[in-house]
Amino acid sequence: MFKFDRKKILIVGAGLAGSTIGRVLAENNFKVMIIDKRNHIAGNVFDFINNNNERIHKYGPHLLHCRKNSEALKFLSRFTKWVKYEHKVRALLQNGKTTPLPINKSTLEDVFNRFFKDENETREFLESIRNKELIPTNTDEFFESSVGNTLSDLFFRPYTRKMWGLEPKDLNISVGSRLPVRTNNDDRYFNDEFQALPEKGYSEMVENMLDHKNIQINLNTSYFKGMEENYYHSFLSIPIDEFFNFKFGKLPYRSIIFEEKLENGFDFDAPVINFTDNSPFTRKTQWNLFPNSYNFEGKFKTVTYERPCSMQVNPGEYYYPVQTKESNITYSKYVKLSKQESSLTFIGRTGLFKYIDMIPAVEIHMRIAKKFLQGIDISK
Ligand code: UDP
Repeated sequence: MFKFDRKKILIVGAGLAGSTIGRVLAENNFKVMIIDKRNHIAGNVFDFINNNNERIHKYGPHLLHCRKNSEALKFLSRFTKWVKYEHKVRALLQNGKTTPLPINKSTLEDVFNRFFKDENETREFLESIRNKELIPTNTDEFFESSVGNTLSDLFFRPYTRKMWGLEPKDLNISVGSRLPVRTNNDDRYFNDEFQALPEKGYSEMVENMLDHKNIQINLNTSYFKGMEENYYHSFLSIPIDEFFNFKFGKLPYRSIIFEEKLENGFDFDAPVINFTDNSPFTRKTQWNLFPNSYNFEGKFKTVTYERPCSMQVNPGEYYYPVQTKESNITYSKYVKLSKQESSLTFIGRTGLFKYIDMIPAVEIHMRIAKKFLQGIDISK
């Protein structure tokens, strides 16, 4: 154990949120104890090399993308080198062929069996099929207003229903609007100028973040109420509703079952193929197509299929906070209650009830750490 001559901090959860706060505070001379109920660090960005020499992201494919001058990127770049990688996804069509996602010029040509001579012609066509009158207020309306009903029914509505277990009209617009719509031939999944993977994986990046003399890590260690009493301040990446005994009801989450298979067919047209129909899976990932996978030489490659499910089916595996009007109201009640706990800060996906990508997650938690430091006189 530490000999604590300065203030002690408890962090529950060794994922990106907890590791970011932990590193910033450790560098400011706090003694940080990080616990995690899992047997590994890195939370949901955990990856590992399997027997087949492929790098697998245990909790689904994680792709990093951001502005070049992002503070979070600068921070993470202290702990890893990057391999350039621009993510591509294709959707499987009924005829067995695949087409680019997000929707671009080629997608429109494939689906409508047409040819557009340039971007202008493509834009004109898109304008003719989308519902221009509609000012969208939810995910369903967003789909209809951005691409019209035919494409919504083909690519978005069935996928969204199985992904979230809800009608798209009940989901906040922020979910559907994650994907751009394009009229050129850009077939990258994200628009961002910086897109890359950590050269040796996310787990090693997080390991380097946590490698500091002021950080101690205890894995296989669950949080229990009262633990925080031994610490000056605690940052909890745990479900905020559970902490308050579900006083205002449960916050909804969607979970995922990951099914791994060894396949020996042709390489996929893209590392990720989406199933946008009514079948139970949302997507499949061929891991050896990512450039930070090792020298894969085997005949069989690992493919992971994702099947969204309720929390009852996959207890304790919180993946996607379900953002609806009601859930946001419930969450704000918990936030109000949490303000009374001056030595506690809720963090992470389940503490903040936020559906966040990795870079925003790091940014938010750098900010939380800085705010904490500003409010504290560490000379006492
Ligand atoms: N989406 C869809 N069809 C697709 C891909 C995405 O309808 O083929 C919708 C769906 O509602 C999904 C959202 O867009 O939840 C965001 O997709 P994204 O790929 O960003 O989700 P993530 O990678 O975070 O699971």
